[in-house]
Formats: sequence, structure tokens, C-alpha cells
Amino acid sequence: MIPYARQDISPQDIEAVIDVLKSNWLTQGPTVQRFEKIVADYCGAQHAVAVNSGTSALHIACRALGLGPDDMLWTSPNTFVASANCARYCGAHVDFVDIDPHTYNISVPALAAKLESASRNGGLPNVIVAVHFAGQPCDMRGIRGLADQYGCQVIEDASHAIGAEYKECPVGGGQFSDLTIFSFHPVKLVTTGEGGLITTNRDDLFETLCLLRSHGITRDLNRMRGQSEGSWYYQQVDLGYNYRMTDIQAALGISQMQRLPDFISRRRELVVRYNELLRNLPIGLPFYGPDCGSAWHLYVVRLNLAKVSKSRQQVFNAMRANGIGVNVHYIPVHLHPYYRDLGFGPGDFPEAERYYAEAVTLPLYVRLSNSEQDFVVQELVNALN
Ligand SMILES: *Cc1c(COP(=O)(O)O)cnc(C)c1O
Repeated sequence: MIPYARQDISPQDIEAVIDVLKSNWLTQGPTVQRFEKIVADYCGAQHAVAVNSGTSALHIACRALGLGPDDMLWTSPNTFVASANCARYCGAHVDFVDIDPHTYNISVPALAAKLESASRNGGLPNVIVAVHFAGQPCDMRGIRGLADQYGCQVIEDASHAIGAEYKECPVGGGQFSDLTIFSFHPVKLVTTGEGGLITTNRDDLFETLCLLRSHGITRDLNRMRGQSEGSWYYQQVDLGYNYRMTDIQAALGISQMQRLPDFISRRRELVVRYNELLRNLPIGLPFYGPDCGSAWHLYVVRLNLAKVSKSRQQVFNAMRANGIGVNVHYIPVHLHPYYRDLGFGPGDFPEAERYYAEAVTLPLYVRLSNSEQDFVVQELVNALN
């Protein structure tokens, strides 16, 4: 089976992990800090806080922004459930903004209209989570402008977008958001096994994130209001979690970060090949603008169901039966039973639902060979006929 995504672990990656295993620090050591510095520098951010998953990153990002019961978070319905669940962990409400039919990211005109209506009727969001779907950056300038106008804070969910660029700057630099989160799950662009990270330029948020990552415990005299009983002393000053990344994971992350430019260029090569090989088929190809800064986490095609005599399920099943691990990203979050129980249902976000009915994710990963890619294309052609 050719999977839709797969990690690429090199001999150097393995050596880096072994070195940590032989060292004194498996966790809470210097390697996590080195990894944080490397990612912060890569993104052009002041601070980075590594955690044990992208989901944990989203959770403490929401906590650091003060999201609490009766507050509101808005995000895209075309994302992994974690982009919305992070609000629910804080007891906050969730609502969604429909997607742009070309980029499949949150639609800025739809966001503008919904904010305008919420400002009259109540329900303005405290936090907007902008998801860079498939690695394609959102229209962050538009989102930030609206967020400032209506007094909202912004989190970028860049789980798909380490290595992506927006306005010629790396995603994660924080020009247009308060916090950016990344995921290092093995299907993503860079992996640490499980892992996540948050970048920010705000010193206050950085401090809170460090506390929340590790039980809300501090040894900082300022935080402890000058009280100390000796060098063993620490205080718990907030209700935090154990969301720490291990040094073992961070070592893999450092080694993977060195390879990120090569990862992105191989992905771009494969995307150019797909675009060329698929251009005469009755399918919509991914958004590819003149200054498209995508990191190309996913390559999603949209079946033109008016021209294809097969259903999406038939195409999907035919390809799976022939060894192509196609996938579907994403089931609209508001259609999951948990969110239906909160009052959402079919028809709420029609662009996301229409997109979902037509979307197929083709395999895209660094080790995918040209001949494997040709095989994927051949099987797609066969499945469509
Ligand atoms: C993978 C992913 C997450 C969650 O990351 P984990 O590291 O798996 O917890 C959040 N948001 C999006 C868009 C993702 O793709």
C-alpha cells in the first residue's frame, strides 16, 4: 500500500536519538531548549514552547489567551477536530466560519459577514483559529485586520504548515497572530513521533505557556512573590498540565528541522509533477497562486461530480483496492456526532460540505518516488473511467 503520508527517518535522525538515549537527560534537558531555539529562529519568532502534541499546543494556547467558560472560539469546519476541541477543553463555545471554495481555508468575506452580524446580535469570538489547510497559508492580513476591528485574538493552526511562507515570511513568525501552533505527528511535515510547539512574540504569553506546560509550577522568585524557603522550593501558581516534550523527541526534531528545506523542495517537485500529470482529468487541482507559499502537507483533488460518472466513494474504494492509500481531509468538524449534539447539522456550512463530498487526498510524502507517483496517477485515471 502506498500511504497518503509517511515520515522520512534518516540514519542521522536515528543517531541523534541514540545520542540522547546515552546522555543524562531523557526529558527536561538541554535538547528541548535547542529544538525550541531552532524552530523559533527558523520561523523568525521571539519564543517557542515545545509540547507533547499539537493538540496540547492548541489547548494551552487557548488557556494562555484566557479562553474560559462562556467565551467563544471560531475556526474552520475543514480541519482536524483538535482545532475546535481546544475551546471545549476550556469550557468555551465553538462556532465555525465557512471555507473559501478555492483555497479550502477559512473565507475572509464569510468571516467579515459573521463578525458583523455577531457584533449586532452577540456572540463575538474571543479567539479565531486560522488553519493553514494542506500547508496553504490563510489570508492572514485579512483575518488580522478583522480580528483587530472586532477585538479578537488569533491563533494560527500551522499543523500543516511548517516551512510554508506568507508574504515572503515563514509561517510562525507571528506578524499576524498572537500564537502559532505546530504538530509533529509522523504524517506531518516534520516529526518527533508525537509532539507540538507554539511560537509567539509576546513575552507574557511565553511565560504563561511555560507554566501551563508543566503543572503551573514555577521556581521564579518574581512569580512566587518573593517567597522562597530554599533552593528546593517551588510553587504551583496556576492549574497546568504535564504536556512536556522529551529530549528524545526534541533530538529527532532538531535533526528533522535540518532536513526541512529538502523536504519542502521534494514535496514541491512532486506537486509540480501531479499538476502536470493530472491537468486533463475532470478534477479540480489544489490552489496554486503566483506566490503560493504552501508547505504542501497534503495534495487534495476535487472530483467534478457533474463530469465523472462515479461517486467519490467508488473512486476512493477502487484506488484503495489497488494499493493506493487515498484519504479524505476533512469530514467537516460540525458534522461529527459530538458537535451535532451541540446543535450543528448538515447545511450549516455549505462550502465545506460541498468540498467534503468531492475531495480525495492523493499520496504525497518525501520518499514517494516518481514511478510510485505515476502509478497513483494511473490508478486515479482507471478509477475515474
Ligand atoms: C494533526 C493536527 C492537529 C493535532 O496535532 P496532534 O499533534 O496530532 O495532536 C491539529 N490541527 C490540525 C489541523 C492537524 O492536522
